Amino acid sequence: MKATGTCPKCLCTALWYVEYVANNDPNPGTQNKATQFQLAVTGKLGLDGTSGRLEAYACQQCGYVELYLKERLPVDGKHIRELRRPQGPPYRG
Ligand SMILES: [Zn+2]
Repeated sequence: MKATGTCPKCLCTALWYVEYVANNDPNPGTQNKATQFQLAVTGKLGLDGTSGRLEAYACQQCGYVELYLKERLPVDGKHIRELRRPQGPPYRG
């Protein structure tokens, strides 16, 4: 949807772009809460310890939503782990 400008579900081309996905925490008064939705929380809670700000594309017709990371994630092996498909020829079943 981000690259094509077209909804992959219904092929509608009228989309909404959401630059900052809000954190819909019902208790936003706590100082340690990020105001933006984060994909992951690494280390301590708070702005220093969060990572993975998101942007969203939403279809105006069917409501389908795609989220994209706006930044690279720091792999800490606990909260965020890197996965890579093993090298080699493609599987043939
Ligand atoms: Zn759609």
